[in-house]
Amino acid sequence: MFLVLPCHQYLAEKAGERGDSMIGSLGRPALHLGRRLFDLVLPPRCKKCGALVVEDDGLCAECWSAVTFLGPPWCDRCGLPFDYDVGAGALCGDCVRGASLFELARSALAYDDACREMILRFKHGGDETLSRLFARWMAIAGAELFAEPAVIVPVPLHPWRRIRRRFNQSALLAAELSRLTGLADDPLSLVRVKRTPSQGGLGKSARTLNVRGAFAVDPGRRERIVGRRIILVDDVWTSGATAEACIRACRKAGSGPVSLLTVARVM
Ligand SMILES: [Zn+2]
Ligand SMILES: [Zn+2]
Repeated sequence: MFLVLPCHQYLAEKAGERGDSMIGSLGRPALHLGRRLFDLVLPPRCKKCGALVVEDDGLCAECWSAVTFLGPPWCDRCGLPFDYDVGAGALCGDCVRGASLFELARSALAYDDACREMILRFKHGGDETLSRLFARWMAIAGAELFAEPAVIVPVPLHPWRRIRRRFNQSALLAAELSRLTGLADDPLSLVRVKRTPSQGGLGKSARTLNVRGAFAVDPGRRERIVGRRIILVDDVWTSGATAEACIRACRKAGSGPVSLLTVARVM
């Protein structure tokens, strides 16, 4: 927690600076006034339980303490938390075996009862405002990923699924992360070329088969990712099969190393 609050403040300030230039010097007071009037009518509420809170896009103290934030000590490569500090650069068993395709991976939360409902509400319930809260947490968990130039690429939905859900939740996270970090997002270059059944209830090997060849880089936009580091963004890291299929597609098109950043990780 001692790390989290100053980072939030920093990122909020950065976002404020960027907002200033876009809104202009006259627009900002008007925006503030409008926001305050709006708050009087609809005061901010905890994004998880709905209790009244001081600031927008946050949790109440009780919900905050229930959520499992991931942080060091963790595997230097994939961000799997360790029970105790085993020194800088330590890797988990999977990463020692070189089992994964990503360069680095980070997740903000453990996927558990405390965050499941929020994530499902974001993904299937249409509450797109949760992207602001999740992206703040992801920017902190993935700070190392944003230290070098990279392009933020969301895991794409098949166009039919996107129409049904109204939005691609990963693209919302990528856009929000772009706003917070100043790195560009690219929601168009990586596309889902095959409509696949839901991954729910499948094991790792079935999931891998299910998404094999499901993603590709749009040939018309290939130059946007050739040689560039990619930060692949998704909501939940379950088996990693979807991320691996996306990484294969990016590398095949000539991208640089690909890292993975998610809201939550199934532990
Ligand atoms: Zn709450
Ligand atoms: Zn690892």
